[in-house]
Amino acid sequence: MGRAVVTGGAGFLGSHLCERLLNDGDEVICLDNFLTGTPRNIERLIGRDGFQFLKVDVTEFIHVPGPVDSVLHFASPASPIDYLQLPIETLKVGSIGTLHAIGLAKEKNARFLIASTSETYGDPKVHPQPETYWGHVNPVGPRGVYDEAKRFAEAMTMAYRRYHDVNTAIVRIFNTHGPFMRPNDGRAIPNFIRQALRNEPITVAGDGTQTRSIQYVDDLVEGVVRLLRCDHSGPVNIGNPHEVSMLELAETIRDLCGSTSETAFIPRPEDDPTIRQPDIALARQVLGWEPKVVLEEGLGHTIDYFRSHPEVLDA
Ligand code: UDP
Repeated sequence: MGRAVVTGGAGFLGSHLCERLLNDGDEVICLDNFLTGTPRNIERLIGRDGFQFLKVDVTEFIHVPGPVDSVLHFASPASPIDYLQLPIETLKVGSIGTLHAIGLAKEKNARFLIASTSETYGDPKVHPQPETYWGHVNPVGPRGVYDEAKRFAEAMTMAYRRYHDVNTAIVRIFNTHGPFMRPNDGRAIPNFIRQALRNEPITVAGDGTQTRSIQYVDDLVEGVVRLLRCDHSGPVNIGNPHEVSMLELAETIRDLCGSTSETAFIPRPEDDPTIRQPDIALARQVLGWEPKVVLEEGLGHTIDYFRSHPEVLDA
């Protein structure tokens, strides 16, 4: 099989992707600087045949000896509190990091796949969001560092495709959860699960009517691998169209945890999108992909992971 380079391979999504590629028989070279990723995420992969880890900051330089068939650029702070605390790093990895990753793909004649995001749609005025929607993003707001870095990364990817004939793909990833997610990454799902398991108040932002569409990590990985193994350029949305309000999400998680947590309303973050739902017609058509894991089932897996790793919850 092939030889894949995964940047951000010790992150939540990156580590799942490395594992899946190894299971498929690929060799995997995992790059990470542990800015938001952690060695704990790749402990299970170290020592597996075909797995190699290099501690690298992809905004510095990327050098990988030997042939490479695919480069998957998944390095980036990705949760709102991470990229608000690491704004320059976020901009650098989306711009300079993308330049280095796609440059590596060009040099090796490899397929390049960039992890983009539903955040490219910003606070959308079109619902659900098809890939043809250009988005509604505030470049100078606090979330602009992530949104614009990813939009720049998409533009860079298309430029290399058009002007250097690099074989490229863009996946726009919607909210995803699963094992190896950092419980303290500040996102709604890990926050709600941690709070529910401790019977502490569940912090719902605003009035909780804002929505997200939530997918389980196995579905996401399947979509990414299908896109990697075909020659479609994307962008392709990969997300579960099942849309829930944050209040519903809090209630569902409380019930699944058998928790007595109350609800605590906290201020809404600036520029927090009000609605978000992927239109997945393109993924269905070109990848034959659709999500398989229903909300409660997926949340059950993530809750089990947090419950069975109290050391992760306390970290
Ligand atoms: N949110 C919340 N309570 C929390 C953390 C987040 O109600 O403790 C809300 C947040 O304001 C947003 C939604 O949950 O409306 C999803 O936020 P998250 O950080 O999970 O991801 P985003 O989709 O905004 O990147």
